[in-house]
Amino acid sequence: MTYKELANLIYPNAKEIIYYETKYPKRNLPEGAIVTRFAPSPTGFVHIGGLYQALVARTVAKKTNGVFFLRVEDTDQKREIENGVTGIVDSLKDFDMAPDEGMITDTEEIGEYGPYKQSLRKDIYQAYAKYMLEQGKAYPCFATPEELEEMRAKQEAAKVRTGYYGVWAKYRNLSLEEMAEKIKAGVPYIIRFKSPGREDRKIKHKDLIKGNVEFPENDQDVVIIKSDGLPTYHFAHAVDDHLMGTTHVIRSDEWLSSVPLHLQLFQELGFKAPKYAHISPIMKNDNGNKRKLSKRKDPEAAVSYYEELGIPSLAVKEYLLNIANSTFENWRRQNKDAKLEEFDFQLNKMSVSGALFDMVKLQDVSKIVISKMTAEEVYEKSLEWANRHDQELVEMLTDKPYSLKVLGIERGNIKPRKDIAKWSDVKENIIYMYDHKFLDNKQEYPYQVINDPKDINKILDLYIEKYYNPEDDKQTWFDKIKALSGEMGYATEVKEFKANPDKYKAHVGDVSTVLRIALTTRTNTPDMYEIMQVLGKASIVKRFEKAKQ
Ligand code: GLU
Repeated sequence: MTYKELANLIYPNAKEIIYYETKYPKRNLPEGAIVTRFAPSPTGFVHIGGLYQALVARTVAKKTNGVFFLRVEDTDQKREIENGVTGIVDSLKDFDMAPDEGMITDTEEIGEYGPYKQSLRKDIYQAYAKYMLEQGKAYPCFATPEELEEMRAKQEAAKVRTGYYGVWAKYRNLSLEEMAEKIKAGVPYIIRFKSPGREDRKIKHKDLIKGNVEFPENDQDVVIIKSDGLPTYHFAHAVDDHLMGTTHVIRSDEWLSSVPLHLQLFQELGFKAPKYAHISPIMKNDNGNKRKLSKRKDPEAAVSYYEELGIPSLAVKEYLLNIANSTFENWRRQNKDAKLEEFDFQLNKMSVSGALFDMVKLQDVSKIVISKMTAEEVYEKSLEWANRHDQELVEMLTDKPYSLKVLGIERGNIKPRKDIAKWSDVKENIIYMYDHKFLDNKQEYPYQVINDPKDINKILDLYIEKYYNPEDDKQTWFDKIKALSGEMGYATEVKEFKANPDKYKAHVGDVSTVLRIALTTRTNTPDMYEIMQVLGKASIVKRFEKAKQ
């Protein structure tokens, strides 16, 4: 019995690997172009850490005019859920990170290196497993779950490493005849890698994020094909990233310790190994303790959370790049209007211990991102969000021309308003500008320094009767508030008030506050001149009538 005969017995119909090697030729890309991928399992949950990895992988590929593809790793069919792929594909689209190749819906894909869904690549894995069997680099293993359990118990009792290796690898040295006999007799088996490694030897690896690392060689005969005929992660990684031409494997650092095994698999398969970049998990400061962002404990671990709050995807990406490379912040300061794609992202500047994620900072970033949007963009995006989450806001935004004016207040100038961090803030921020929301409801007026009803009523009446003119430019408008202040015996300049505090009851700023509160019930609003321009005379008069004490 030869290896070849055994391989034929196991996989009689598998193609020779030359077929696949020809079908998926080396990519024809410019010198230095990097090919990366995002390779999630469709568990139905998209973790912000996954999006972070995808963003890093995509950024690196785009920077070099390379390729970023999406591969769905569904070989663990127990973990799969319905529509798991759709969730991933949609998230990437929402973040404007659609892949160049790979799955684009639950069932469709684009690109020449597919299928991009592992469960559809069974034949390919079996061809490569057969190739390994033919060379004696893999073998069928007949160990039952009970046998493996017993082995583990013995290893634990003897205080040695657990696993299937060396003397413990019971089926590794069966004769080919014995193997064939068992297979013919229908004994269940899986396929294991026959590791050439030795635990007492070290391998050195240069990780693009973690730097130089040293590990013992792998000596575990890991499973490469499971009993359901599908590959394990390790084998699929080697076969897929080889055939798909991945140059840089950018993935979670939970895989760092598997590098010795993966390098060995590439070596034994005769493939050129990719470069690796292992990303540390996103961390959170939990009352002084730095810990991983947890799917179970932290709502912000779910990508869907940001959509629900209405944090624009651009802001989330901007923030993720911010925590990915500490040089980003400085770059942004110097390149305020540059596109994210222009940032010179560096893998080797990523944190080795894990970037700290902070919702408050994310919202600060988001405020700046939104402040740069036009009124039209803010309108469209708020409305899109409101259509999914807030009917009252949809109704407010129905009057588009008016809403554009409201959202246009203090926007498009050098110091645009920064009071919106998320679309769910919009309603609260603008509701007072809508007469049917404002005038028809009871309001509380938190008057401040000037709080005598007589004074308030007089200011409001006098302003309308004598001073208000919708045609006034901003300077004239303000001069008139000063004049009104003077007429009522308040200081027309704050400076003057401070110099002679006993002479005046209040100053022009306090008069403005009365007007502001009467108009909006708020002490803090965007520019009052613009607010009055947008409201118009009829509304202002009604608001003042309502505000009188
Ligand atoms: N499916 C693997 C995971 O979700 C992918 C790891 C990789 O990127 O290679 O952990």
